Amino acid sequence: MNDFLMIHDVVIAGAGPVGLFLACELRLAGLSVLVLEQAEDPYSPLKRLPFGMRGLSAPTIEAFHRRGLLDDILAPQREKDQSTSAHWMQQSRRAGGHFAGIQFFHDTIDTSKWPYRLPGPAGSMAVEMEHLEFVLAARAGAMGVEIRRGLGVDGFEQSGQGVTVRAGGEIFRGRWLIGCDGGRSTVRRAGGFEFVGTDPEFTGYSAQVEMADSEKLVPGRHYTPTGMYTYQKPDTIAMVDFDGGAFHRTQPITPEHVQSVLRHISGADVTVTGLELATTWTDRAYQATAYRKGRVLLAGDAAHIHSPLGGQGLNLGLGDAMNLGWKLAATIRGDAPDGLLDSYICERHPVGAEILDWSRAQVALMRPSRSSRALETIIRDLIDTRDGATYFAERVWGVSLRYDLGGSHPLVGRSAPDFELANGTKLGDHLREGKGLLLDFDAGAPLQALAGRWKGITYVAGDARDRLGLSALLVRPDGFVAWAGEAVPDNEEAAQAASRWFGKA
Ligand SMILES: Cc1cc2nc3c(=O)[nH]c(=O)nc-3n(C[C@H](O)[C@H](O)[C@H](O)COP(=O)(O)OP(=O)(O)OC[C@H]3O[C@@H](n4cnc5c(N)ncnc54)[C@H](O)[C@@H]3O)c2cc1C
Repeated sequence: MNDFLMIHDVVIAGAGPVGLFLACELRLAGLSVLVLEQAEDPYSPLKRLPFGMRGLSAPTIEAFHRRGLLDDILAPQREKDQSTSAHWMQQSRRAGGHFAGIQFFHDTIDTSKWPYRLPGPAGSMAVEMEHLEFVLAARAGAMGVEIRRGLGVDGFEQSGQGVTVRAGGEIFRGRWLIGCDGGRSTVRRAGGFEFVGTDPEFTGYSAQVEMADSEKLVPGRHYTPTGMYTYQKPDTIAMVDFDGGAFHRTQPITPEHVQSVLRHISGADVTVTGLELATTWTDRAYQATAYRKGRVLLAGDAAHIHSPLGGQGLNLGLGDAMNLGWKLAATIRGDAPDGLLDSYICERHPVGAEILDWSRAQVALMRPSRSSRALETIIRDLIDTRDGATYFAERVWGVSLRYDLGGSHPLVGRSAPDFELANGTKLGDHLREGKGLLLDFDAGAPLQALAGRWKGITYVAGDARDRLGLSALLVRPDGFVAWAGEAVPDNEEAAQAASRWFGKA
């Protein structure tokens, strides 16, 4: 090991959205961060419309809001909405999302079932991957994160003190290494992480095609006896071919092949004359059994992969980053309470497992079989009921996310409501620095004193426009509620919660 090499606190493999956001989180906590990215060029047509669009769930939108990134990330979308007077505003029913292509609508959702959600930036929105990565890379760079492109991590060795990383013929040293290097993660493989799950049933295709006779296809999504296809005029096709995933990444995608699969699934005798852009994917659903080995961690697609159905992978990975950043930072600084870093896998592994099952359930509904069509009929009926739409919205928007943090109040473990304080600020504004927050609506001396006993808690006193029946709450740096007090707060319970998540001052 070369002792003259600079040692970074953290080396991150992969400058995808998860690696970049995590780098911002770690830098916000004052750590030195190096990101090594395999690709020379961050831009790609697959990261732009139509295939590069990604839906953002409520926890993701809240995370970006809490770090002051939301306006930059949503700027192009808002501009487009204004100039076109938003496509959804012109629709009679506004779609809120879908399950295996079966839509649920805003007008059916019963938001009164979510008593601790305040009107805020939440809901669901969409963003182009290229723009998202651009904003995150710009923020990371401005904060002092070093990003080196064209350097793919080839392997590493770890000791009790740190990790030596090999990338593109160069050597780098970090106290910790995080694999954010996507579904085919080198860090995961080199680190010997066990990766388990279910093998693919299909190859999925996203393609922009030239067709001689596109009028033979009916626009919209169609389940057929041989698979599923979606046609969006004039040239965008998505297809699912239940071939056991045999085609994916085994052969080049040619116009002839796309034509043959499209004919097979649609039953229409279309002629594909050219391919503008095409990619394939599968429903392989695998998850690492552990997200940490010594000083090496995994986050994002490196830790879990599943089909893009229902669009959850990016949100899952960004949730990992928001959960891990402050915990690893406290661990490296030496002020983490016992078990803080372990809580990363305890909290995030079950969330990942649930999303994998959500995607598997959609595959079950898409199979070209009579039983799947019967299941589709039932889901269509259910999704159009008030309870059904509310259930699907909770799952798809991430509203149901709750970590098991114990605690007596139903808000504990949930994302904190974006309270509007009397001075006009919102809870999210007070989380910009990535610190914990003790929000004291009654401005009582005992809680102020309590906040001072732990490192990294900002004490904010003042009434809120709507307190939701609370007198105070303790919020972790990731915006999740660690403790909530009603009329007469239990200060002992608050102190216990603080000691679980924060180091003693
Ligand atoms: C068609 C499609 C549609 C999707 N739609 C949605 C959606 O609507 N919502 C949603 O939440 N998710 C969606 N997803 C999933 C989402 O895109 C991924 O889950 C997300 O990109 C994962 O981010 P990541 O940073 O973990 O990995 P990636 O985005 O894969 O980034 C990994 C980065 O690591 C780099 N890298 C790879 N190997 C190395 C190495 N050895 N060393 C250094 N760098 C390396 C790669 O070049 C890349 O830049 C979709 C996926 C697909 C394919």
